[in-house]
Amino acid sequence: MRLTVTGSGTSHGMPVIGCKCKACTSKNPKDRRFRTSAIVQNSDTYVVIDTGPEFRLQALAYGLCKLDAVLLTHAHADHVHGLDNIRVFSRDHSIPVYSDPNTLEEVRCCYDYVFRPTQKGGGKPLIELINCTDYNEQKPLTIGSIDFVPVPMMHGILPTTGWRFGRFAYLTDLSFLPPSSFDRIKDIEVLIIDGLRTKPHETHFNFDQALETAEKTSATQIYLTHFCHDYTHKEIKQLLNEKKKNYGRLADCIVEPAYDGLSIEL
Ligand SMILES: [Zn+2]
Ligand SMILES: [Zn+2]
Ligand SMILES: [Zn+2]
Repeated sequence: MRLTVTGSGTSHGMPVIGCKCKACTSKNPKDRRFRTSAIVQNSDTYVVIDTGPEFRLQALAYGLCKLDAVLLTHAHADHVHGLDNIRVFSRDHSIPVYSDPNTLEEVRCCYDYVFRPTQKGGGKPLIELINCTDYNEQKPLTIGSIDFVPVPMMHGILPTTGWRFGRFAYLTDLSFLPPSSFDRIKDIEVLIIDGLRTKPHETHFNFDQALETAEKTSATQIYLTHFCHDYTHKEIKQLLNEKKKNYGRLADCIVEPAYDGLSIEL
């Protein structure tokens, strides 16, 4: 199974429009970040987690030719505003979109035209919204040949959904992981986790909160994601390398910033 990070930037993306800061003017390709999202695939199954505004560009960049389902973490614009572009995959059948009921209701509102029976044909995707909350570690959601487990999280006061598959967990956007959700990510090896910046934020983990959470899991490869433009990739890498020494078992783990194109196979 392979996970590809197709976007690792916060809601503005990087560079931020009009910004001349060091990170936004960096020549390092790893400092160009699409909005946070990922592709999960094996030999016969292709699933995307979140369809942000650059979904089309990401699908082209990473050669997405098949799509079995979309998993949504939540309905903020940076995670769903590319959903219309899945219509190339829904010519013959609807594409299931899984998330929690609150997210699905928001999607239904912001894609109202998709669900209006009066408009048929060109210009809209066929989407089936499916509640994921009945699935859990005992009863996973099977898509093709991959089992997924939803991981309830809080993003400020908004409930969001992380996803576990194989020995991966993909957790963005969050500021709190309920204790019961740790049961859903037992025995993971790879953790992709929200880590916006060093300063605290009301709705996102900062670097330290991401590391505190990672330390409580079994993950040995930890990649932070959803970065704002406070630091360059190189600076975040150095910061995390220093910070991980303060966290018991993490000192011996890979703790690095994710970047667009990061691909991990287990
Ligand atoms: Zn976000
Ligand atoms: Zn900037
Ligand atoms: Zn968000």
